[in-house]
Amino acid sequence: MITLENNTYRIQNVSPAELIQQFGTPLYVYDGNKIESQIKQMREAFGGVDVKLKYACKALTNINILKLMLKNGVDIDVVSIEEIQLAIRAGFAPNQIQYTPSGAAFSEIEEALALGIRLNIDSLFLLEKFGEKYGNSRPIAIRLNPSIMAGGNLKISTGHADSKFGIPIEFIEKVIKLVKKYDLKVVGLHQHNGSDFKDGTVIVNAMQKSFEVAEAYFPDLEFIDMGSGFKVAYHADDHITEIDKLGQEVVKSFEAFRTRYGKNIQLWFEPGKYLVSECGTLLVTATVVKHNPNRNFVHVDSGLNHLIRPMMYDAYHEILNISNPVGKEKEKYDIVGYICETDTFGKDRDLPKVNEGDILAIKNAGAYSFSMSSNYNSRIKPAEVLIYNKEVKLIRKRETFDDILRNQVEIDF
Ligand SMILES: *Cc1c(COP(=O)(O)O)cnc(C)c1O
Repeated sequence: MITLENNTYRIQNVSPAELIQQFGTPLYVYDGNKIESQIKQMREAFGGVDVKLKYACKALTNINILKLMLKNGVDIDVVSIEEIQLAIRAGFAPNQIQYTPSGAAFSEIEEALALGIRLNIDSLFLLEKFGEKYGNSRPIAIRLNPSIMAGGNLKISTGHADSKFGIPIEFIEKVIKLVKKYDLKVVGLHQHNGSDFKDGTVIVNAMQKSFEVAEAYFPDLEFIDMGSGFKVAYHADDHITEIDKLGQEVVKSFEAFRTRYGKNIQLWFEPGKYLVSECGTLLVTATVVKHNPNRNFVHVDSGLNHLIRPMMYDAYHEILNISNPVGKEKEKYDIVGYICETDTFGKDRDLPKVNEGDILAIKNAGAYSFSMSSNYNSRIKPAEVLIYNKEVKLIRKRETFDDILRNQVEIDF
């Protein structure tokens, strides 16, 4: 979390300029204590019910972030065998790892189950295949698609009728048939309806659908998993998920359900963005400032290869001029990358005058930032630094040219 104090920017007690001197740019910087305060806030919001947090690690998969989650008693939600391997390496026990694949090959699922991982089933096809091979030997959860629209935009909405995710709730009778046929042990119902939902009532309504299915068909559940979608602020007056208000509504309706259900049951959430978005800052250097007839451009030494959210989801990321924090002279700039594509980080941004060599900070670069980075244009990936309890630790080295060639096999012509 980057803050302005006495006219200088700081991440905790550390000046970004010092970080740059030591590690260079572009540089990802994470504030570990901000992650902990988000965890705390979420737990407090749902206080009163037995809530379990499963960090959706695809948001930010550095192993040290996983370890920090483990240290804080947060379990983990994974979507691939590689994330399972990372979670195990970080120290999670198999029963703390919830695996929610979307159309992964059955061989991968077999591999995960052999490791003792808990599976969330997201198609009738997989339910049948799982049933044939494993029967009631492993507890499972079912991912339902409740046919509702939730999420900041269509690309990040996953619970509507046209989405590839989950088993349509209309097919519940087919699910039950397979459950009976193979005597399956269903212990959880899962939904994840999309990221950045605007309105907390969406989740309360979606939860009712899981309650109805639970009460009608599954008397022996251990948990209801409501996925995630909690939104954080991307700019000062941004709409966010009011977690306390939402928490109270969720707690109320969950308590009522639990009474009707007549059994102790846990409520799970799988936050990704909520836990790690705001902790991250991407520090970049202004390489070229162009004053064209219609627009001023600031090029920086990064691009969609390091942070693709603005280009892929039209996401707004606040941008600061760290080198000139309080300059009176402001100009309007488009902040753009160095990739040979249109890779605009921010349009029409009023910033204190930017000169070549200035350091800019791109905020909210914790979630879906490094984890979606690539080597496009044969550019290397940045280093990652964690600041935790005021100590600075390098947690990923900057790549080198060798990494670009690493798996290429040169042949003779
Ligand atoms: C991506 C994902 C999440 C996390 O979503 P956020 O909006 O980042 O909180 C949770 N659950 C599942 C199954 C996911 O695929």
